[in-house]
Amino acid sequence: MSRITHIEITHHQLVLDPPFPASWDTRPRTHFPATVLRVHDDEGRTGIGSGDAMYGFSDYAHLFIGTDPLDLERHHAVLMNIEFHAGRPWPMDVALWDLAGKVRNEPVWRMLGGHTDRLRAYVSSGVHRPVEDMVRVAQQVVQAGFPALKVRFGRPRFEDDLAVVQAIHEAVGDRLELMVDCNQGWRMPWDTAQPWTLGHALVVARQLEQLGVYWMEEPLHRGDYEGLRALRKQVGIRVAGGEMTREPYEFRELLERDCLDVFQPDAVCSGGITGLAKVARAVAAQGRIFTPHTWGNGIGLMANLQLTAGTVGAPFIEWPLDAPEWSAERRDYMLTHPLRPDGQGWFHLPQTPGLGIELDEAALARTLSSAATFH
Ligand SMILES: [Mg+2]
Repeated sequence: MSRITHIEITHHQLVLDPPFPASWDTRPRTHFPATVLRVHDDEGRTGIGSGDAMYGFSDYAHLFIGTDPLDLERHHAVLMNIEFHAGRPWPMDVALWDLAGKVRNEPVWRMLGGHTDRLRAYVSSGVHRPVEDMVRVAQQVVQAGFPALKVRFGRPRFEDDLAVVQAIHEAVGDRLELMVDCNQGWRMPWDTAQPWTLGHALVVARQLEQLGVYWMEEPLHRGDYEGLRALRKQVGIRVAGGEMTREPYEFRELLERDCLDVFQPDAVCSGGITGLAKVARAVAAQGRIFTPHTWGNGIGLMANLQLTAGTVGAPFIEWPLDAPEWSAERRDYMLTHPLRPDGQGWFHLPQTPGLGIELDEAALARTLSSAATFH
């Protein structure tokens, strides 16, 4: 049995020049922060996690020192308590799975059950571009072999959002599934805009349904269970959501009240791999789709790929990519090898133990802003 000896947390900032004008953020992003967490055991192994800033975790890191890394359910119970008191500690759960995989000499997706060894990626765009540029993006996505593309709503005029979907549908509609993210579930701290009403969501949903859109994402606030349920009753298009939903009882409510067709919690934001493996199985058992939000860095993306491949699989999984502002090199700057699918959009799960990622120490040193170690 090995023991956890110490935990390192480092904060990094990648300068984004040109900035990334994320469509869901009213402020263009000039930096891409990352927090990298490393859990070390007394046999020289290291588990890696990332995906949340981990503010508040410092007060509780000692709760893991001296414990067996394989006690994943015990660690998860402690992390659920930490989340309640201090914020989202889920990169710790991801790092523990990476370490557990290295102890067991097994990839995480196999430890979870080995549902599939590959997942098909959909390109998740992040920038509001003019219609003709969005059509060009869609054509490039088709040429790169991807089966699906997600576009973002939220331009000042709804007609301009709709024109993008219509133009892409006309240009490549028979070769590409389209998803639309309405981004009404949550807001950045400085954005005080109200979420859409059910009435507005219905108008949008009917238009998207006519255009054959595969799913409509976050059409209402994440807590508007009655609105989501009413929307699903009145339209045929799939409704997706839950990317920032945190508590197990919230997922239970969303399932029992028939609020969503597609559940999208992210292992580095909600519940970790341990918690979401249970959510994924509950969602699949009800005949719904589980396919996580993955927008963040390559470590978080990999955590979600391992989680999904290991448990229930998914028709498509989110692949954040919208170059030049959001390239694989920017997204995965902390990794020696940016994650890439094959020429048909399939991502093949690593056969190496744990998450199967390797940190680019030089890039991490260049971008380091602060570091702390807990014994
Ligand atoms: Mg989303």
